[in-house]
Amino acid sequence: MTRSIITPIPAEAAQRRLMNIEEEIIGALRDTIHSGQYLLGDQVEALEQHISERWSSPLAVATSSGTTALQLALAAAKVGAGAEVIVPALTFPSTSFAVNAVGATPVFADIDPVTLTLSPAAVEKAITDKTAAIMPVHLYGQVADMDSLLQIAKAHNLKVIEDCAQAHGARLGDRFAGAMGDFGSFSFWVGKIAGGLEDAGFVLARQPESRFVLQQLRDIGRLPGDRYTHISWGLRGRMGEFTARVIQLEMDRLDEWLEQRRAIAARYTESFADLPLQLPRPAHPENHVYYKYTVLTKSPEHRQAIEQVMYEANIQPERIYPELVCSQPAYTRSGLPHRLTDLTVAEDTVHRLLCLPIYPELTPQEVDRVLGAVRAGCGAVKTA
Ligand SMILES: *Cc1c(COP(=O)(O)O)cnc(C)c1O
Repeated sequence: MTRSIITPIPAEAAQRRLMNIEEEIIGALRDTIHSGQYLLGDQVEALEQHISERWSSPLAVATSSGTTALQLALAAAKVGAGAEVIVPALTFPSTSFAVNAVGATPVFADIDPVTLTLSPAAVEKAITDKTAAIMPVHLYGQVADMDSLLQIAKAHNLKVIEDCAQAHGARLGDRFAGAMGDFGSFSFWVGKIAGGLEDAGFVLARQPESRFVLQQLRDIGRLPGDRYTHISWGLRGRMGEFTARVIQLEMDRLDEWLEQRRAIAARYTESFADLPLQLPRPAHPENHVYYKYTVLTKSPEHRQAIEQVMYEANIQPERIYPELVCSQPAYTRSGLPHRLTDLTVAEDTVHRLLCLPIYPELTPQEVDRVLGAVRAGCGAVKTA
């Protein structure tokens, strides 16, 4: 009997996504060249309008990346030197680096053991006289406990800046991630749920008055239409017209993609019910958009055993993230200012988490292969 060739299943599939709309992307490039507008033109403005309507936010401002978007939101919220900002310890470094970038101090707080997002109880304990803002991260695409966090923020007069880099379209009822806090920040880096061929991002703001300050901050202190007047200091943080066109092509497909992600997640959840794994358990389906399907294994050894079987089956496992941000050399060795709090849950979680491939372009056969490998991996380890 001949064995069929096992093709690799990548953890991330931006290339598959882009190749599916390749002809349209090439058309968008041609249209951009012919339009004569290359940065912050009509296409960027149309996308800003689309995003603000789509996610029911009064204001959307396009930026050059998710990292830039976070920094702009903090600056527009007037968070600066001397202030503390509470962030989850389990996130991408951009969350806390943005706090350092505006001269404030990130305070690393623990996560909830079920949702793996910022723990409201940990936030309450981390608050001091210096606390100016909270930055919940909707990690893996699951909305953080926003009702509790917004309540705490209100009681202590804190700004809330949502990091939605992984949560395009996630909702709590009819409220979208990014439109619940004072500001919401999105990444449209190519590897995220949606993104162009380059870096890109978005800031949502609840107060329409934030428009001018955000526009100045993203474009070296000037406002659209006034090229040589620099009202304030600002970053080089623009979005390009071609990128805006590609993102718009993807926005037309986003809802369908989210349904496909949820369908694969449902297959994983159903199939893994009898395995010794903690699975994602959103209270409602719309709370999670499955940027990653992350399970908690029983121990670091258990995780390694499953990863081994996945590698042998040509499936790429992922650890998002392999370390807590505060354990990165930038903080432990290079002296970037920060403050630690009790991180018992995050420290335990980071050594047991495992992310499985999940994206709309996965075939049913590939999903079967992941199911089989994870089951085999669980059988391969003694779970005494
Ligand atoms: C990707 C990501 C960012 C940064 O976005 P970029 O567009 O890469 O700058 C910030 N926060 C989180 C949680 C992310 O996953």
